[in-house]
Amino acid sequence: MRLILLGPPGAGKGTQATRLIEKHGIPQLSTGDLLRAAVAAGTPIGLKAKAVMESGGLVSDGIVVGIINDRIGEPDAKKGFILDGFPRTVAQAEALDEMLAAKGLKIDAAIELEVDAEKLVNRIVNRAAEAKAAGQPVRKDDDPEVFKTRLASYFRDTAAVTPYYGAKGLLHRVDGMASIADVAAGLDKVLSSLG
Ligand code: AMP
Repeated sequence: MRLILLGPPGAGKGTQATRLIEKHGIPQLSTGDLLRAAVAAGTPIGLKAKAVMESGGLVSDGIVVGIINDRIGEPDAKKGFILDGFPRTVAQAEALDEMLAAKGLKIDAAIELEVDAEKLVNRIVNRAAEAKAAGQPVRKDDDPEVFKTRLASYFRDTAAVTPYYGAKGLLHRVDGMASIADVAAGLDKVLSSLG
């Protein structure tokens, strides 16, 4: 099963992907996590991506497409995967189709977590406060001002990805403002409809 989770930053894609991994035994491929690992390791890609990520902008399509191409080729992704945070532009979505087609594969579904953009800012303020209270580092891009930039970039560049999958008949929607358990139930319903 090859799935894409769509929705703005803070919509709960990471939380839901973690649950789906446990349930279906397929890996979550998060470009955000892969980029953060590259930054932490100080790789050439990490060095290029660091400043863009900290400002809340988008890393170039070429970099993220390359990262995903490599990751999809790893053994644990053979059975399937859940893409989280990718594709973020129509150019990335097209590149994904091409790289999968070259391997004789395709996406089974794109599921959008629908959210209220204004309430998201509150959600992210809480996420930062909870991390701080737990003694964990707060992501620089979870700073409310940077978060607003990330949200603006979502509506400018990424919102067009949803209709891209709609036109292919692959798009499903789940209310992302519901409780974690209800969102999970909504996702399960979509997945069982896929058979
Ligand atoms: P995330 O954890 O998915 O919110 O990603 C954190 C940051 O990594 C984003 O704000 C972007 O700077 C960068 N990033 C992650 N995925 C992508 C992508 N598909 N395209 C461009 N930039 C990305």
